[in-house]
Amino acid sequence: MKLDTLCVQAGYEPKNGDPRVVPIAQSTTFVYDSADTMGKLFDLEEDGFFYTRLGNPTLDAVEKKIAALEGGVGAMLTSSGQAASLISITNICKTGDHVIASAAIYGGTFNLFNKTLRELGIAFDFVEPDISAEDLKSKFLSNTKAVFVETLTNPSLDVVDLEMFAHAAHEHRCPLIVDNTFATPVNCRPFEWGADIVVHSTSKYMDGHAVALGGCVVDSGSFDWTQGDYPMLSTPDETYHGIVYTEQFGKAAYIVKARTHLMRDFGTQASPQNAFLLNLGLETLHLRMRRHCDNAQKVAEFLEKHEKVDWVNYPGLPSNKYYPLAQKYMKNGTCGVISVGVKGGKDGAVRFMESLKLAKIVIHVADARTCVLHPASTTHRQLSDAQLVDAGVAPNMVRLSVGIEDADDIIADIAQALEKV
Ligand SMILES: *Cc1c(COP(=O)(O)O)cnc(C)c1O
Repeated sequence: MKLDTLCVQAGYEPKNGDPRVVPIAQSTTFVYDSADTMGKLFDLEEDGFFYTRLGNPTLDAVEKKIAALEGGVGAMLTSSGQAASLISITNICKTGDHVIASAAIYGGTFNLFNKTLRELGIAFDFVEPDISAEDLKSKFLSNTKAVFVETLTNPSLDVVDLEMFAHAAHEHRCPLIVDNTFATPVNCRPFEWGADIVVHSTSKYMDGHAVALGGCVVDSGSFDWTQGDYPMLSTPDETYHGIVYTEQFGKAAYIVKARTHLMRDFGTQASPQNAFLLNLGLETLHLRMRRHCDNAQKVAEFLEKHEKVDWVNYPGLPSNKYYPLAQKYMKNGTCGVISVGVKGGKDGAVRFMESLKLAKIVIHVADARTCVLHPASTTHRQLSDAQLVDAGVAPNMVRLSVGIEDADDIIADIAQALEKV
């Protein structure tokens, strides 16, 4: 089936007399008539729900939908995008391992990697998103276990050369993990370009209405964990009577371990209520993404010609450095987020934002309503000046998340606010 159909229908197939809509299974636990069946579920010998931390029918339907949208073998919902990124790395890395990550990633992901995971003994090297293949190859060490990038970086909107990163990673028998939050599978399916694992903050376009935090890890099933150095997947797990994930679960080894090991231990599961809301968002994801992209294109073109604007960064503009890569990887559009440098430095940026009426100042992006944010003083305020430059955040940068209202109204609001700068 085509992607638009998968958005609406995938993941849930009601049987005779079942509810038409994915029901909310608001239950922590599930009933079985024998202790033996329960034991088999615990030992991963049988498939079934027994405790919502490890699986739940509502979550399961949404996980199947996202796996279908990305073209993966399995997916796991998490309580937030942060939890998805945490699990994507710790599922295959431990103390003493090394990860190569793009420097231009979401501020929260950067802190998770550069502080918390570093303190736990995982080393990170951050590279520019437009690094050359040769320089990238020189960053691999004998203990490198993963490469992590964002398709479209938040907030600098760099487009990463996915094939180049995947190729370099695979040459070193490492998986490429891609945060596909901004592009969504409607605009880019990283597995088609060689990525092995995808993570999402579903709190953004997937939910799309700013109602539920959430995340997701998706497994392509295409990485051969027995070829690289991944003992966590290819040697016995004593906490499950010595099962070997790659032997027992084959192509789904990574995503099964993420659930049975890390979700069991970390407990960062999504709630059934939030999964239900996420599913409502997914049902219109294809429609909304198109509208976000159409509106953002119009707004970006308007801003580019405006005298109060220093620069506009939107990969849909032919003048953009990343336009060729965006055409290759996201030919139907990128996302609704634009970053813009307003004249007058930080003060100009703040005056512009505070003069907007329809667009509200919020710590969020990628929902139906147009909103703005000043990264240097909010989401990225914990970064040093040098780190801000690395993350592509200028002091006068305003991140504009273009919603799905009428483009004329959005542009009129921006025009009147720019007059006040
Ligand atoms: C928001 C975001 C995250 C973190 O997600 P939460 O759901 O807020 O935890 C991760 N990656 C990207 C690209 C994001 O935009």
